[in-house]
Amino acid sequence: MIKKLERIIPPPPPHMVGDGFRVHNFFPSGGIQNKQRMSPFFMLDYASPYNFPPSKIQRGVDVHPHRGFETVTIAYQGKVAHHDSAGNQGVIGEGDVQWMTAASGVLHKEYHEKNFSQQGGIFQMVQLWVNLPAQFKMTSPRYQEIKKEKMGQFTFEGGLLEVIAGEYMNSKGPAQTFSPLHVYNLHLNTGKEFTLELPEEFNTGMLVIKGAVTIQEQLAPADHFVLFQNIGTSITVKAKESTTLLILSGQPLHEPIVAYGPFLMNRWEEIEQAVEDFNNGKFGVLD
Ligand code: MN
Repeated sequence: MIKKLERIIPPPPPHMVGDGFRVHNFFPSGGIQNKQRMSPFFMLDYASPYNFPPSKIQRGVDVHPHRGFETVTIAYQGKVAHHDSAGNQGVIGEGDVQWMTAASGVLHKEYHEKNFSQQGGIFQMVQLWVNLPAQFKMTSPRYQEIKKEKMGQFTFEGGLLEVIAGEYMNSKGPAQTFSPLHVYNLHLNTGKEFTLELPEEFNTGMLVIKGAVTIQEQLAPADHFVLFQNIGTSITVKAKESTTLLILSGQPLHEPIVAYGPFLMNRWEEIEQAVEDFNNGKFGVLD
């Protein structure tokens, strides 16, 4: 049975995160304002292709805390660097993913990689906040850096499905997760179509990274987000041109959400605790 289209959402007006990330927020502030609608995915910030001029100073976001969830950065164009107070650091480029589990709390900073900053160029990226089930919110931080070549690969006539997390058929994604979810990059050649099956109850959407697709006779152009109803399991997309789609599908957590700045917890008292712990230096140290 067809997983019914709910709506196609154009990119909300962009805003700057720090001075390096010009993002469209599709949820929870932009097109989808219900905090539970895409659970376990809580936030989707999309830096659509934007040309940054050369800069001697690396643009980005300086040291800030997180608790209670995971930040997942997917690079499409340009390079991003990361450092955190758990001692992890890395640089990701085109097709790579940084999957940082903040959990009980880290400080980190995120910015354009040095050479990319100096040369300037087109920057395109996604940042997701993946919520953690209550029982894992205070576990230890973790950092997974996943290069493009490590993704699960499901090849078919006319395209490639890269599995970042979860699985598709026999292809498994390298990212370890705390709740059942799938994150894929689907690459389709012009005129080709692909049908995928996703569980009915999983909250499901796709972001058109490049190109354009038709879905149930509706056109989804580049930089648009396609939201599906929780009805049916089967999605067919047909590429009008060479296309890349980011596909998100996950089992809802069904737990209360209290969000405050960089903290994502279940109860207000836990937010107060996070603020207190942050003020007392319990998130570690990062220059
Ligand atoms: Mn951050």
